Amino acid sequence: PTMAHSPALLVLENFIGGKFVPCSSYIDSYNPSTGDVYCRVPDSGKEEVEAAVKAAKDAFPIWSSKSPLERSQILNKLADLIEHDLEVFAQAESKDQGKTITFARTVDIPRAVHNFRFFASSVLHHITECTEMPTMGCVHYTSRAPVGVAGLISPWNLPLYLLTWKIAPAIACGNTVVAKPSEMTSVTAWMMCKLLEKAGVPPGVVNVVFGTGAKAGEALVCHPDVPLISFTGSTLTAQRITEKSAPHCKRLSLELGGKNPAIIFDDADLSRCIPTTVRSSFANQGEICLCTSRIFVQRGIYSEFLKRFVAEAKKWKTGNPSDPTIDVGALISKEHLEKVRNYVKKAQAEGARVLCGEGVDPLALPPGNQKGYFMLPTVIAEVKDESCCMQEEIFGPVTCVVAFDTEEEVVKRANGVKYGLAATVWSSNVGRVHRVAHRLQSGLVWTNCWLVRDLNLPFGGMKASGVGREGAKDSYEFFTEVKTITIKH
Ligand code: NAD
Repeated sequence: PTMAHSPALLVLENFIGGKFVPCSSYIDSYNPSTGDVYCRVPDSGKEEVEAAVKAAKDAFPIWSSKSPLERSQILNKLADLIEHDLEVFAQAESKDQGKTITFARTVDIPRAVHNFRFFASSVLHHITECTEMPTMGCVHYTSRAPVGVAGLISPWNLPLYLLTWKIAPAIACGNTVVAKPSEMTSVTAWMMCKLLEKAGVPPGVVNVVFGTGAKAGEALVCHPDVPLISFTGSTLTAQRITEKSAPHCKRLSLELGGKNPAIIFDDADLSRCIPTTVRSSFANQGEICLCTSRIFVQRGIYSEFLKRFVAEAKKWKTGNPSDPTIDVGALISKEHLEKVRNYVKKAQAEGARVLCGEGVDPLALPPGNQKGYFMLPTVIAEVKDESCCMQEEIFGPVTCVVAFDTEEEVVKRANGVKYGLAATVWSSNVGRVHRVAHRLQSGLVWTNCWLVRDLNLPFGGMKASGVGREGAKDSYEFFTEVKTITIKH
């Protein structure tokens, strides 16, 4: 379907063995803020994945035998080069994904730069274990080595941020990689490939194959020479990847969806809690796996909270993402926008109240953005816990607010979903904060804050939110194979 394309279209190419290679077929990529096709992405399949895996296999012996320091210097160089082009990357990410330029400038691209710097440093500081058995005359120690070709599959919400969170530890540990970004947001990964040679990344160490999950993604998951897959995306896709990789017994890291609760006790500092909870609900259009989507408020402050929360949410301006005063950009696609809107309709049909946003307030868009995929931050109250809006991941600018009475009750209700990724707890009672944090089924619990991350520590979800963790030590362990060696004198 390529007839009506203007010649100004951006055309991406796969990056295999250090070279850009065209593909025989392409898919359209849309600018979510205008609804126009502006880019064509290779529609790779088995053949392209085969070539990329071969290039990665060929590059492995030399790359894996380099010292950690040599690899670290290359990662730092790459970080510098991306940072040098930060503004160009931020513009591209905003155009490709629909996110605001401010978010891309302050979160996505700085974090991509930091991912390389962080792993360039952290990989130098691991120590292996050693034990002694004097009566047996033995010393045991562990040794770690890179695994081989890593398959990396990433989603569309934080494109370069999440892809580099995988590429950096994988190559820092001495693996070579074949990465498959989301077909909806491939541009910044392609731009990064242009910097690899200058950074000193040898050909074949980082290969990027563009295309759909069903074709390119699955070919990577099923390839016998790719022993590990690091995936970030939806729980449904993770189930499929688990099935498809089972015959090969692959090592999997799965970072999946969430249905994250915020629990707000009556002794919470609302002046901090309200702006942060508006941000945790609507940042990046609510398209962050860590976004809050169920807000439990203790009965005594429920009506005051709702009033102030809705007033704060209404301050968030929706519109052209390239305008630096805008807080909410466009959603990723027309289909996704429809899906998110349908959740709001279902909630209304079930008798919930929509307090602001979708269907309640007018959405005024600039002339150039009339066909973009925009939606106002939407707050829904009086939703039943069993409702799909309280159970399923919506992944848009929609949050539900409900009341609770006791600590015991709210822990049970917060845990009453299939997911377990992130939670926030707001209270000035330190004992309660600890108690509740321990009882929540959640890989991350933030109390009196949100999205404050120390990359040294494990990141990941429980239950349907994932398998495995990422972080300094966790990613190192995932991307290396450990061996126990015993020496007897
Ligand atoms: P998705 O599962 O549809 O796609 C993710 C990636 O997998 C894409 O690159 C896609 O092309 C690929 N893919 C799809 N089907 C595949 C298959 N059969 N085999 C191999 N690869 C396949 O997810 P999405 O819609 O792009 O992203 C949104 C989801 O990601 C949300 O559920 C969100 O919560 C989750 N997410 C999780 C985290 C986390 O760290 N836990 C971070 C960001 C996003």
